[in-house]
Amino acid sequence: MSQDWNIKSRGRVCSLCGVALEDGARIVSALKETGAGYERFDCHESCWNAGGRDWEPYSQWDGVFSAPVREEKKEPVKKEDAGELLRKLAALDDPALGNVVYVLAVMLERSKILVERDVKPLGDGSLRRIYEDRKNGDTFVILDPRIRLEEIGPVQQQVVSLLSGASTLGEIGEREDAGGGAEAGSAGKEEGT
Ligand SMILES: [Zn+2]
Repeated sequence: MSQDWNIKSRGRVCSLCGVALEDGARIVSALKETGAGYERFDCHESCWNAGGRDWEPYSQWDGVFSAPVREEKKEPVKKEDAGELLRKLAALDDPALGNVVYVLAVMLERSKILVERDVKPLGDGSLRRIYEDRKNGDTFVILDPRIRLEEIGPVQQQVVSLLSGASTLGEIGEREDAGGGAEAGSAGKEEGT
């Protein structure tokens, strides 16, 4: 059902002139809203600047095209890699996992795997953040649920336990649905008023 509307791969040819993008080329990437989600454009800067569009991009950013690296060594992945986990979670598009997806994206941004390209405010006070994978250029459209600072710790724990294989997605989803019944009353918690 879900067409992975929130993950978009970077194109290898210019979306406007159809010529292959060369390593190191300056490109403009853009997301266009469509009824079914987003359509992604990756274009030569010159093609983009030539104008003639009759639509406004939902989001756009400048970048440099890096040719995809041929993956030669196909080692079996031992444990879940954080980028793969994000890909899986973003594709699920499950509201119950919203906090986990967002915190994982922030962790990947801090470890320089993702770069934030744009932020879009939504009507309800939440934000939609657009992250790009530095390596392969894939785009992730992630809802920022504006979780409170004190909630981040427990969510990070969930992410870590997913990465280590200690928890499954089903368990995490249930826990979030139940209203975050994580262990309360452990040491060092103060409630200010
Ligand atoms: Zn072009």
